[in-house]
Amino acid sequence: MPAPIEFDVLVVGSGASGLAAAVSAKRGGARVALVAKDAVQSCNSAKAQGGIQAAFGEDDSPEQHAEDVWKSSHETADRRLVEVLTGEAPDAIHWLEEHGVEFTRENGGYRLARCGGSSRKRLLQVGDRTGHAITKALRDWVESSEIEVFPKSPLTELIQRPNGWRASCGEHVIDAGAVVLAAGGRCFRIAEERGELTTNHPGATGEVTQIAVDLGAETRDYDALQYHPNGGAWPPAMQGYSIPETTRACWPTAARTSSSTTPVSRRTAREATPGSPRQSSTRSAAWLASRTSRRKRVAAARSSSRSSASGAWTR
Ligand SMILES: Cc1cc2nc3c(=O)[nH]c(=O)nc-3n(C[C@H](O)[C@H](O)[C@H](O)COP(=O)(O)OP(=O)(O)OC[C@H]3O[C@@H](n4cnc5c(N)ncnc54)[C@H](O)[C@@H]3O)c2cc1C
Repeated sequence: MPAPIEFDVLVVGSGASGLAAAVSAKRGGARVALVAKDAVQSCNSAKAQGGIQAAFGEDDSPEQHAEDVWKSSHETADRRLVEVLTGEAPDAIHWLEEHGVEFTRENGGYRLARCGGSSRKRLLQVGDRTGHAITKALRDWVESSEIEVFPKSPLTELIQRPNGWRASCGEHVIDAGAVVLAAGGRCFRIAEERGELTTNHPGATGEVTQIAVDLGAETRDYDALQYHPNGGAWPPAMQGYSIPETTRACWPTAARTSSSTTPVSRRTAREATPGSPRQSSTRSAAWLASRTSRRKRVAAARSSSRSSASGAWTR
């Protein structure tokens, strides 16, 4: 075993949550290590295009935001967490700005878009690359600080010790007083197992969640997966490409029928792309998926999933 390296805080994961945790711990004066499974750039956060919500509109408030989230959850969310999320969202936006994120502005304020489930315009964006802009700014901050970064160092084992934790991360053994697990979800692995399409990055495999569960962490809605209705299905090079939610505003039929689960209809998709040939990649995802050799496996997996829906991409 290599000699353990010591830190105050070990952060596992280099998505937005891991980067933000590392920056916060460093600013608090800790000696921080950040490990990533693959390249530090590889994460779902960088793929997020749609945007990030906070109540900044004149007709909006954190209370209204909380009400919308509560309704969107069909009143199943934890209200305390919803209040933290919506109450702290404006400060989180300012925190990101302080660390170099430049949200798109218009008329002297933020440009706010409307998005699914919200009764007010409250979606902030950085052009159409919001997640990329957030992770890039935080990564630049991390890389210019004394935070020690270990790419290609997946966490495989975490053992509790009298004064903290011992973590096996690739070739490294790291001892830390506190460990932040920010390794994202498992939709890439689940999609592979089910033969479904996914917009996730290949590192979204969920083994860190399992490590946490094995150590006694509690879970909530663990069986639920997010499904996204629009994405690339054909040609193969387009598989996994996410078509953002805002696109649905241009595709009325899709917007009407979709509650994050229904694919764009073939006719609507074709009409939304003037001049597109009939046999083109604008054909509906459902239609295309139905032609793939994966059809039977997809159908079998769907019938056993409570959150699955025909023609959707795990996300
Ligand atoms: C295509 C797409 C578009 C999206 N659009 C939006 C949007 O517009 N707005 C929105 O709010 N949300 C959006 N989301 C959801 C959002 O991106 C995620 O909820 C968010 O990025 C999760 O952040 P995270 O830091 O928890 O995980 P991630 O960003 O996935 O980061 C996880 C990190 O952990 C690392 N990791 C995994 N396993 C290990 C291991 N064993 N050891 C070490 N490191 C490990 C990964 O390599 C990665 O660096 C979108 C998601 C996708 C896929």
